[in-house]
Amino acid sequence: TGRHRVVIVGGGSAGVSVAARLRRAGVGDIVLVEPSDTHWYQPLWTLVGGGQAPLNGSRRRQTSVVPDGVHWIRRPATAIDPDTRTVTLWNGEELAYEHLVLAPGLQLDWDGVPGLDEAIGRDRVSSNYSAEYAPRTWELIRNLRSGTAVFTQPATPVKCGGAPQKIMYLAADHWRRRKVLADIRVVFVLPDAALFRVSEYRRILEQVVSRYGVEVRFRSEMTAVDGGRREITVTDHARGTTERLGYDLLHAVPPQSAPDWIKTGPLADPASPHGFVAADRHTLQHPRYETVFALGDVAHLPTSKTGAAVRKQAPVVAANLVEVMNGRTPTHRYDGYTSCPLVTARDRMLLAEFDYDLRPRPSFPLIDTFKERRDMWVFKRYLLPPVYWHGMLTGRL
Ligand code: FAD
Repeated sequence: TGRHRVVIVGGGSAGVSVAARLRRAGVGDIVLVEPSDTHWYQPLWTLVGGGQAPLNGSRRRQTSVVPDGVHWIRRPATAIDPDTRTVTLWNGEELAYEHLVLAPGLQLDWDGVPGLDEAIGRDRVSSNYSAEYAPRTWELIRNLRSGTAVFTQPATPVKCGGAPQKIMYLAADHWRRRKVLADIRVVFVLPDAALFRVSEYRRILEQVVSRYGVEVRFRSEMTAVDGGRREITVTDHARGTTERLGYDLLHAVPPQSAPDWIKTGPLADPASPHGFVAADRHTLQHPRYETVFALGDVAHLPTSKTGAAVRKQAPVVAANLVEVMNGRTPTHRYDGYTSCPLVTARDRMLLAEFDYDLRPRPSFPLIDTFKERRDMWVFKRYLLPPVYWHGMLTGRL
């Protein structure tokens, strides 16, 4: 077979959005490489873990989201050769492309913390970062009446930087309503020196944390898990100390990096310690291969990895790709927009939106989003999922 006009690797939020937009722009001969027959709307997993949404709401059959006219190949890619412009699939088959869009997401490194891989899903350890465990998070939260609950964030980039703390707020608010919060010690272990990088939102989160009485371990990291003993090791990088901390509930967020085959491949950014793909921060084009674009979690961009960021990146990639097809230089620019819907209670949310310069970028000019709001919680729970399925994945929004 000949060279395909466009090959898209990864049919998650980013891959499907770009495919839909290219179809709308009239581009033909698009191949989508995606091994999974299930498409997940991961932002719902926080609410699944918090007992506020069923897992089924986050799942659709991949066939139902692949845009008409796009040829789906249900296999993983295992290598890319940008010089011969070919993608190798798991069965050894090769696909030749004219243009390539890289969107295989990121990899959860469960083995990145000794003991975590063995303990996850057992020993009162859970994580909203996988569909398999998110429902279990709620079981653990519901069953806890006293003891110590630990929530951790790894020292690598993570998808949705707010997710490690959002579930803690949902849990603490549940315990508060059940009148058991006073008997539960809540500890948050995070690598940063502050709760959030944008001061406008950080100030509010500081109040939320003190409202629930959370003990925050800044500049710290969980460096080992002993599931049998229900103990973790916390390393404090500021003080240079380590401490053993017993838990009755552990919500662990695994270290994250680019998929291994990307890390070791020719498109990874040498400047990325985690092997993410090089891309111009504004045009999203690869710096060395002009027919290659990267977006979503796999791209090495100095902003927070979210679906909301993908929503702004997809139109830029699609439009720039069409320009490259027409022999022009890409002119569309992504400004680093990302957003994090920080659920701070079971009926409240703080919508943090910002760009590469960490400047707040509120989308709703008529309402004050610099505070916890009930309407924003309703927006996340009931409006964002249909906007995702019917707007973003179809290239309309
Ligand atoms: P994904 O959507 O993960 O898609 C990657 C796709 O690539 C998958 O379908 C995968 O099967 C496929 N793939 C993997 N390997 C290969 C391969 N070798 N070959 C081909 N295909 C491959 N974002 C928000 O905006 N708001 C939120 O509130 C929010 N909350 C979150 C909460 C949690 C618990 C989690 C886990 C994520 C959350 N996110 C949130 C982040 C959001 O889900 C991701 O940023 C978004 O899905 C990124 O899109 P993507 O297409 O890059 O990756």
